[in-house]
Amino acid sequence: MRIDAHVHLQPHGERPPVDRARIAQYVDCARANGVDVVVFTEHLFRFREAYAALDGWWEADPNPQLAAATRAYWDDHVNLSLPEYVRLIEQAKADGLPVRLGMELDWIPGRAAELRRLLAPYAWDCVLGSVHWLGSFLIDDEAGLPEWQRRDIAAVWQEYGQLVEELAGAGLVDVLAHPDVVKVFGFRPPDERPLHRQLVRAAAANGLALEINTNGLRKPVAELYPHPDVLAAARVAGVPVTLASDAHIPERLGAWFDEAIAAARAAGYRTYAAYDQRRRSDLPL
Ligand SMILES: [Zn+2]
Ligand SMILES: [Zn+2]
Repeated sequence: MRIDAHVHLQPHGERPPVDRARIAQYVDCARANGVDVVVFTEHLFRFREAYAALDGWWEADPNPQLAAATRAYWDDHVNLSLPEYVRLIEQAKADGLPVRLGMELDWIPGRAAELRRLLAPYAWDCVLGSVHWLGSFLIDDEAGLPEWQRRDIAAVWQEYGQLVEELAGAGLVDVLAHPDVVKVFGFRPPDERPLHRQLVRAAAANGLALEINTNGLRKPVAELYPHPDVLAAARVAGVPVTLASDAHIPERLGAWFDEAIAAARAAGYRTYAAYDQRRRSDLPL
């Protein structure tokens, strides 16, 4: 039984219709790729309701260029109705398709109440929590490269860790997505252990899982998220893991799951976590 716990319906820069035909494409590719269940976790910033509730959050950044870039990014991505997305996936579930309802929620400091209100009306199977922005600095997109060049790397890593800790403590999410995505472009401080410890502590203290995300393998860093040391410490701390491709197209479902499973086993895991109606069960790896 393989569950891909982190899947998007639209690639960045594109807006294919999110409808039953698109869901069917994913289900077909899942079968072809050996994936039994697909957890759709579309980005928060795809939804018009999220944009309306959070509009202007980027202005909190003192750098007006970064704020403008983040506004443009949100403008470029927003195109879906949250209630329609939920209805579409719930209908597919009701019809017996092997799909689950999730979202990838961005942590936006100071906006926990709005995020909670956005999630509240719906029966999520699983909510992923992500830190993509430090203020309006988008750390995992090539648009952020000039800012990476300007900043002190250790300080970026420290700020990232603090935001993950806030996110984990906010009681909004079940899983910390791509836990050490801050390494994506290979800007790494001499000592990564403080972040590693912080990630495990944040998950353990709040009863969250860490995601083993294979998408890093096709990024400049060319590694799984998170680092093997994080997995080893998480195993000792009793933190569960999920398996995730972070696919943005159907063909990539289940990509590199053998590598993810091998990493989990190497850290001592014998099971991985799956969520249904936000309740965790543990399945054999
Ligand atoms: Zn993400
Ligand atoms: Zn994602």
